[in-house]
Amino acid sequence: MAQRKIVVAGHGAAGLCAALSALESARESGIEAQVTVLDRAPETACGGNSRWSPSNIRMLSPDAMEPGFVDQIVAQSGGRAERAYFERLAAEAPATARWLQAMGVEFHTPPYYLAKGPARIQPVGAIGVLFETLWRAAKAAGVEFLYERELCRLNVDAGRVTGVEIGPAAAVLHTHAVVLACGGFEGNADMLRRHFGPGAESLRPISPGTAYNDGAGIRAALEAGARSSGDWNGMHIEPVDARSQASAPVVLVYPYGIVVDGNGRRFFDEGAGLMHETWEKFARDIHFSLPGRTAYAIFDAALLDIAGYERAIRSELPPLRADSLPELAARLDIPAASLVETVAAYNAACSGDSALFDETKKDGLASAAGLSPPKSNWARPLERAPFLAWPLAGAIAYTFGGIATDTDARVLGGDGPIGGLYAAGEITGHFHGAAPNAVAMLRALVFGRIAGRNAVLGV
Ligand SMILES: Cc1cc2nc3c(=O)[nH]c(=O)nc-3n(C[C@H](O)[C@H](O)[C@H](O)COP(=O)(O)OP(=O)(O)OC[C@H]3O[C@@H](n4cnc5c(N)ncnc54)[C@H](O)[C@@H]3O)c2cc1C
Repeated sequence: MAQRKIVVAGHGAAGLCAALSALESARESGIEAQVTVLDRAPETACGGNSRWSPSNIRMLSPDAMEPGFVDQIVAQSGGRAERAYFERLAAEAPATARWLQAMGVEFHTPPYYLAKGPARIQPVGAIGVLFETLWRAAKAAGVEFLYERELCRLNVDAGRVTGVEIGPAAAVLHTHAVVLACGGFEGNADMLRRHFGPGAESLRPISPGTAYNDGAGIRAALEAGARSSGDWNGMHIEPVDARSQASAPVVLVYPYGIVVDGNGRRFFDEGAGLMHETWEKFARDIHFSLPGRTAYAIFDAALLDIAGYERAIRSELPPLRADSLPELAARLDIPAASLVETVAAYNAACSGDSALFDETKKDGLASAAGLSPPKSNWARPLERAPFLAWPLAGAIAYTFGGIATDTDARVLGGDGPIGGLYAAGEITGHFHGAAPNAVAMLRALVFGRIAGRNAVLGV
C-alpha cells in the first residue's frame, strides 16, 4: 500500500476531527493518504451525540482555558482523573478552537441555562452546527464516507492493527491505522444492565443519535488487547420532560421548586447544588429508585418571575398548570392529600428571607432544621397560583467506561500503545464520578484532532 490508509470508525465530532486532521497532516507532510469514515447509522441519522449537542465548551474564550481547569477536573474526580490527559486537553484546546474558527465556526459566551459556574463558550448557531461544519469540511477535504457499515472487530498482527472487520455484510478493510471514535455504550441495553444494574436497559436515550452508540468499538478494542479506562459505573444522565419525544427536552429548573415521587413525597435535596452539580444524581434516582421511573417537579408562580427561566426548559410541551395544589395533583394523577401535606411541611420550613433568593448561585436560602430531606438552597414557599408541574424521566447521554489512551490518543494495551490504534471522544473513558461539566465535546474535538494527525504520521 503506497498510499497511507486510515479508517475512522464513527462520524461524530471526534471522528470528523480525526478524519480532517489526518488529511491535513498528510498534505503538510507530503504523504498520500486515503481516509475513510464508517458509521453504522444511515447518512440521514449519522453523527451520534454530536449531531444533537448544543456543544457548551469549557473554555474562558476560544483563546484560553480557565485558570485552574486541570486542578478542578482532578479534584472533582476524587483524584482519579489522569492529570496528563487533561493537561494535554487544556494545552491543545485553544489551537483546536482556532482550527474550528478557520472552518467558519464562530464562538460566543451565552448564559448557561440559569446557573453560573465554570466559564464556557458555545458555537453560534443551531444545535449541531459544529457537527455540520465539520461534516461539510470533511466532504470538501476528500474524506470517503461509508454509511450503514459498522465496526465489528479489529485485526491485529504482531501488536499492530492491520484491518477492521465490518458488518453487516462481512468485509475487511485493510488499513495502516484505525481511529476509534464510535462513542460509549449508552445505546446497548445488555451492557447498560451489566454495568448499571437492573432497569438500566430501559434507560431512555436523550437524543436520536445516542442509541447508535452500542459499545462495539469498546468491545473490539478490549478484544484486541486494549486496557479499560474511566468509571464503568459512571454515566451522564439528565432529567427530561417524561411526556416529550423530542431530543433532550430537559427541565433544569427543579432546584427552584420541589420534586415529589408518585406518592406526592419529596425524596431528595433539590437545592443541594446548581443543576449541573445535581442532574446526574437526580436523574439516576428517578430512573433507578422511583416507582414508575417518574418524578414531578412542582412550582408556584414565583418560577415565572425568574428572569430567563425558559432558558432552563427545553421541552416543547407547556407545564401542567392549575389554580390549586389539589387540582394540580389531580392533573398529575398523584394523591392530592399527600401533595398538599408535603407542600405544607416544606412551606413551614421555608423560614429564610426570600429576598436572598438568587438562582445563579447557591444562595444559602436553606430550609429550617427538621425538614427531611432538607432543601439546602433556594428554599422559598410554594404559595402563589398558578401552580405548575412537569413529569420528569431520566435520559442517558453517554457512559464513562471506555478504553485507555495516552496523551497522543494512542490506545494502550498491557505493554504500551497498540500499533496503529488510536481513539478519541466518549469511547476513551477518562471520566470518573460525575461528568466534568462541558468537557465531553471539547475532548472529542481535541483528541480527535490529535488522533488523526498521529494516525497519519505513525506517532
Ligand atoms: C443532547 C446532548 C447534549 C449535550 N450537551 C453537551 C454540551 O453542552 N457540552 C459537552 O461538552 N458535551 C455535551 N454532550 C456530549 C457530547 O456532545 C458528546 O460526548 C460528544 O459529541 C461525543 O462525540 P463522539 O464523537 O465521541 O461520539 P458521537 O458524537 O456519539 O459519535 C459516535 C458515532 O459513532 C457511530 N458508531 C457507533 N458505533 C459504531 C460502530 N460499531 N461502527 C461504526 N460507527 C459506529 C455512531 O453512529 C456515531 O455517529 C451532549 C450530548 C447530547 C446528546
